[in-house]
Amino acid sequence: MGNDQKSNAQQSVKSVVLKPTGQPLRCPKCGSTDIAEIVYDPPAMTEELLAQIQAKRAVVRVGAQKKHPPRYYCNYCGYEW
Ligand SMILES: [Zn+2]
Repeated sequence: MGNDQKSNAQQSVKSVVLKPTGQPLRCPKCGSTDIAEIVYDPPAMTEELLAQIQAKRAVVRVGAQKKHPPRYYCNYCGYEW
């Protein structure tokens, strides 16, 4: 029987946010790796995004933004950069 159920829908929630180099991102202020990525005006609230938010790996911002909005948010000290 061709039982090709693709039910291993593993949520790919990152335990830490990684730099493009593959190293964990650190807060420039406190050095914590408990960092969330700031997502601006997401087109849709996907399951993946929701999982990231619940895991504190993403923060959603909507509405008007500054000219150069920060990309990352430190869950430990609240610093944004
Ligand atoms: Zn910090």
